[in-house]
Amino acid sequence: MTLTVALERNFGYSTFRPGQEDIISALMQDQDVLGVLPTGGGKSVCYQLPAILKAGLTIVISPLISLMHDQIDSLKQHGISADFINSSLTQQEYSEIRYRLRQGGVKLLYIAPERLENQFFVNEISRLPISMIAVDEAHCVSQWGHDFRQSYRQISSFIDALPHRPTIAAFTATATELVRGDIIEQLQLTEPNVFINSFDRPNIKFTVKEPSNKMQELKDYLKDAEDSTIIYAQTRKNVDQIHEHLLKSGHSVAKYHAGLSAQVRANAQDDFIYDRAKIMIATNAFGMGIDKTDVRKVIHYNMPTDLEGYYQEAGRAGRDGLESEAILLFGKQDIVSSKFLIENSQDPTSISRLDTMIQYANHTSCLRRFILNYFGENRQVDCMNCSSCLSEFTTVEVTREAQMVLSCIVRMKHSFGMTMITNVLRGSKEKKLLDWDFDELSTYGLLKHKSESFVKNVISLLLANHYLNLNQHKGLELTSRAQALLKGDEQLMMKKQVDSARNSSRRNVFVTISAEDPDLYEALRVLRNDLASEAGMPSYIIFNNKSLVDMANKKPTTYQAFLEVDGVGSVKADNYWKVFTDLIKKYEAKS
Ligand code: ADP
Repeated sequence: MTLTVALERNFGYSTFRPGQEDIISALMQDQDVLGVLPTGGGKSVCYQLPAILKAGLTIVISPLISLMHDQIDSLKQHGISADFINSSLTQQEYSEIRYRLRQGGVKLLYIAPERLENQFFVNEISRLPISMIAVDEAHCVSQWGHDFRQSYRQISSFIDALPHRPTIAAFTATATELVRGDIIEQLQLTEPNVFINSFDRPNIKFTVKEPSNKMQELKDYLKDAEDSTIIYAQTRKNVDQIHEHLLKSGHSVAKYHAGLSAQVRANAQDDFIYDRAKIMIATNAFGMGIDKTDVRKVIHYNMPTDLEGYYQEAGRAGRDGLESEAILLFGKQDIVSSKFLIENSQDPTSISRLDTMIQYANHTSCLRRFILNYFGENRQVDCMNCSSCLSEFTTVEVTREAQMVLSCIVRMKHSFGMTMITNVLRGSKEKKLLDWDFDELSTYGLLKHKSESFVKNVISLLLANHYLNLNQHKGLELTSRAQALLKGDEQLMMKKQVDSARNSSRRNVFVTISAEDPDLYEALRVLRNDLASEAGMPSYIIFNNKSLVDMANKKPTTYQAFLEVDGVGSVKADNYWKVFTDLIKKYEAKS
């Protein structure tokens, strides 16, 4: 049986995604593997298929319990014997799994790394024929990664103590060269095959917008109520505010941040996964281990502080391969709050990483190329699927206005924030300002004909370009670079988006599902959702939307034809062909 046939039979997919087949071939030949694939690239299949095909047991080490639940449910739907052991099991469930393991009835066993601290478990498991160990989120083993987890360090001594060394497969979505080297060393991979896939996610359209009214823009993006959407905001307060706003305007929302109790967070996460809430509003505390494949939009209400984090969060859109969007609603004020956030960071790279993020938000050429080049892929062609490729920009020179701002700050003795400086330049009669006699400064009212947001944008631009710094008290002060601008040796340019016909015509057009027969698609979706809620499972585990689109287009009425649908393997066909083909037949008879 070829690997493609095995893929089709077990998972119902007719082709491999890039990199999958090579990784699986290497693992089938008992070679260690380090696979670096982007989020949504299909890492799980890379170890699940060899686990099914190889004799013996595969242990999957995975960092999060929520992730395990989903994976096991999904594998069981495909008829694959898989279990997990973690602290959520009852004694009875645990005994049953141990029994199944001893009987050899389990192909994949998921555990968290902490389980390896339990000597009883280690002794028992070591007696079983373990053919492979798959380490998910392998960058957690490295101190240089952003999610270091001490318990990952025990994996290699666990493997060392096994009577036979199994094949090791390590996977991660983000790994710099340093982290890659560390994974190989820490997990003691033997002459590993390293597969690094393109980080591109072609089905995600990247957009940066700088709206004058973010909330309004956000609401415009949320018009399609059926789409699962994640909205990321910078602080808990932001999350609470957006949540309240959207709740009032009748949206189906959940929220998640570290200020909520574990139980409330778990409920919110479930509401989102099981489609009871269409929109999740969250800080970056949400997302790791969320495998929801049908998230259509990831909207950032504030600019994150680095591009790695942004790309990881944005990558949670469109894991099912369908058209999706990653939208950054940028405001120049985000620069100030981000600078403030990283001020106390111990990480010496945080400033340059924020600079990269700001450059991305202001980039007027292809955004995808910017991202891929940042991750070391030298992409030469524009993607034509990002807001920069689909928009026009002009740049205007704001050097003179910037000089006025700088002079004003010097005269105000460097101890004030953006609002006060703006008020002075715009000639406000505010009491606090008059108390300080700022109306007597020569810079008072110099920009009185300009809007408040224009002046604030110039100040933000000065911060972004390191002409200004924020001091500990959030006061703005000049850097040594500022002299060059004051003297006119350097220029400051501001980007402006032209709302061209090309741009505006695509503004809110977002086609996610392109079934030829939308009514049939809708009927199939309702049936799928009913089956899911009866089984107490997320709907995408039964069939994802991509499968439903394919089903609505192919209109299968027999078992054989049902097997041809994308994502339908033999076990899913056995379980579901009858109900779905019956519905299609009824639908065909009516129309
Ligand atoms: P990752 O862990 O790399 O983020 P997953 O393993 O969760 O990605 O895969 C994302 C989605 O893609 C899942 O729904 C998975 O079933 C699906 N998938 C994986 N491989 C294929 C394939 N060859 N063809 C179609 N869909 C696939």
